Amino acid sequence: MRDSLRLGRVAGFPVAANWSVLVIVLLLAWGLAGGVLPETSPGHATAIYWLAGIAGALLLVCSLLAHELAHAIVARRAGVRVEGLTLWIFGGVATLRDEAPNPKADFRIAVAGPATSVGLAFAFGLAWRGLGALGQEGLLGAVAAWLASINLLLAVFNLLPAAPLDGGRILRAYLWRRHGDRDRASETATNAGQVLGYCLIALGVVAFLVGDPVGGLWTVLIGWFILAVARAEQVDSATHRYLHGVTVGDVMSRDVQTIDSELSVEEFVPRYLLHGRHSAYPVVGPRGEVEGLVTLGCLRGVPPAQRPATRVGDVAVALSALATCGPDDSLVDLLPRVTRESGQRALVFDQGQLVGIVTPADVTRAVEAGSLRAQVGG
Ligand SMILES: [Zn+2]
Repeated sequence: MRDSLRLGRVAGFPVAANWSVLVIVLLLAWGLAGGVLPETSPGHATAIYWLAGIAGALLLVCSLLAHELAHAIVARRAGVRVEGLTLWIFGGVATLRDEAPNPKADFRIAVAGPATSVGLAFAFGLAWRGLGALGQEGLLGAVAAWLASINLLLAVFNLLPAAPLDGGRILRAYLWRRHGDRDRASETATNAGQVLGYCLIALGVVAFLVGDPVGGLWTVLIGWFILAVARAEQVDSATHRYLHGVTVGDVMSRDVQTIDSELSVEEFVPRYLLHGRHSAYPVVGPRGEVEGLVTLGCLRGVPPAQRPATRVGDVAVALSALATCGPDDSLVDLLPRVTRESGQRALVFDQGQLVGIVTPADVTRAVEAGSLRAQVGG
């Protein structure tokens, strides 16, 4: 996530906090100091309520981190790479680099978070009862009771069977195991996520209108966020599903036009970019060997005055930085490897010979063809 401050490492995972986490800390501290604590434990000074409120809010952020940490630890144990943990306005995110290898691992990774939240609710509940038994219930007890109830609420909310919530992941794992098709399972879970998103937005609007503007607005924001993520995940899983079994050779453009690496940028721009049919060209050296790929992005850094003296080969993206593949490779496996630097293109080689190029347009066409095939039941 952009604009995140690195906090360090926990259990080997990099932990970062987005500035927006301050908003929840302040909102929660304000809710505690200005309402919950004076009601449940009256008779303290305002400053004391604020201190307790901030402590409670920070402990809740730690609880969120523990929830995400549980996802990350179980994922790592299942062989799934974890990029890191980020705290932000809607809680925490454990960013996983790979998909779970099987439904069982998918289920375990998902359930670890809510299980941790339930455990924390239980622990804070015990602390509250313990303080009560010692006759020390007071302010500390009130904070512990609040932490117990919020952690429990978080667990219950996260267990709603709608992606991207943990319950949606659990639903996906269940359907995946039952029908053996991860992408279809994911589509059902993300459909549920969109329904939940709309429901929360409607609920928030009603709450806003009947006199709870802060709670209402918050609910609308959470609903909107769930809706957006569920939609993005659905596009991803549909792409996966429609491209199942499609090879690079099925979709690649074969009429590859290459450019001599010695050509100057001055000559290249009018001849190929302005009047040519493509916006990226493989660059070949004197013996015909492929050196890289020249894209529009490569040329932006060349000032007009330097264009005559700059070779296309000097500005091209080097072959080592490009995604390359064979015609029999799976298209779905290729997609995560293509980079923005290369204009989302990949070069296709067969026995050392350049035989094709895969462009974003080729992929879009393949997805559309796949969706048509799915409609006619093919
Ligand atoms: Zn979770």
